[in-house]
Amino acid sequence: MKHADLLNIADEFGAPVYVYDTEKITSQFKRLTKAFSSVPNLKLNYAAKALSNLSILRLMNSLGSGLDTVSIQEVRLGLLAGFSPEDIIYTPNGVSLEEIEEATRLGVKINIDNLSILEQFGTRHPHVPVCIRINPHVMAGGNTKISVGHIDSKFGISIHQIPHLLRIVELTKMNINGIHMHTGSDILDIEVFLYASEILFETAKHFEDLEFIDFGSGFKVPYKSGDIQTNIEELGQKLGSRFNAFCKEYGRDLTLAFEPGKFLVSEAGYFLARVNVVKQTTSTVFASVDSGFNHLIRPMLYGASHEIINISNPEGRERYYSVVGYICETDTFGSNRRISEIREGDILCFRNAGAYCFTMSSNYNSRYRPAEVMWHKGKAHLITKRETFEDIIRNQVDQAELFQPVKRKAVAK
Ligand SMILES: *Cc1c(COP(=O)(O)O)cnc(C)c1O
Repeated sequence: MKHADLLNIADEFGAPVYVYDTEKITSQFKRLTKAFSSVPNLKLNYAAKALSNLSILRLMNSLGSGLDTVSIQEVRLGLLAGFSPEDIIYTPNGVSLEEIEEATRLGVKINIDNLSILEQFGTRHPHVPVCIRINPHVMAGGNTKISVGHIDSKFGISIHQIPHLLRIVELTKMNINGIHMHTGSDILDIEVFLYASEILFETAKHFEDLEFIDFGSGFKVPYKSGDIQTNIEELGQKLGSRFNAFCKEYGRDLTLAFEPGKFLVSEAGYFLARVNVVKQTTSTVFASVDSGFNHLIRPMLYGASHEIINISNPEGRERYYSVVGYICETDTFGSNRRISEIREGDILCFRNAGAYCFTMSSNYNSRYRPAEVMWHKGKAHLITKRETFEDIIRNQVDQAELFQPVKRKAVAK
């Protein structure tokens, strides 16, 4: 997006504000689809948790995407945004049997990731098809907090438990319609991914009625120019032909599914915050913005490095800054960043703010969550209003009658 358009949005809607460019989302969707064009049946299920605004979900639906959901509320958001139940897959971890049954009643596809619930669900609903999440125990991912395929990960049914899994399926006579894995974020080594896929193909041979194999997600996107990223085209070529060969062997054309979150929305997002204070200390120049980790927690939560640009003064002389938030504990967006000269009142733009940014925001420090704006065909559309004080106290039940304020003695003047 152009700096001028972003500045206009900050002017019109105020800052801090999230902005999402629908054109970028669309082109990422098309790029991934094209990379797998050799596969007759491809299904992309957008991972709603990355950015779950209704208008973004509607855009995904209009592109032909399905929806990957991890909570019953996300399922309901998907239905509200117009997805048909068959286009929604529910992939929770560690939720109750009741919540899975509720999703079943809503008619969405079910993915189960543990043997205990699988057995209970299969016993009670043998006719409802179920996809199973396998843990192939392949290490992938750039950060241990987001690597979910390793041996001590809580996700999925271990491949070492396949015999037990098969016993449950046989006893309950349940129908397994899909096999799934999601090994974690930041897949860089395509050979590692293909290796995990082989484990999935081996597992798939145990089931006769499969409709799809879901390879999860974890595509790495660039955070700055020159960053390494998943080579989608190479992955499409290699996994595509291997998948087609597997389908021949299996005897039926299956659907190849993915559930990208970050890949579709990360680069489409911009977070704009205004600089309140420029503080020069003996060692550092701090730029304090009108925001904090309550709005964008990824740098503090897992060391994510979002590029920061001063769009109010892009041609200014570059200097070193630490960009920090207003939260009353360490709240650093970026340390020692080279940024064009920052003046109080300038608007800083944080890149890659589409995925896991607004959806992870909170009211910590009793601050309002920011507004969200969608940039579509050259026009800005408000898609979430900035919160107000009403929102902060909406669910509080004020037990005012339990406490009387202490009577203070009048102080002699
Ligand atoms: C979070 C999640 C995804 C999306 O991962 P990205 O790295 O954002 O693409 C996909 N599948 C499952 C099951 C997830 O939990």
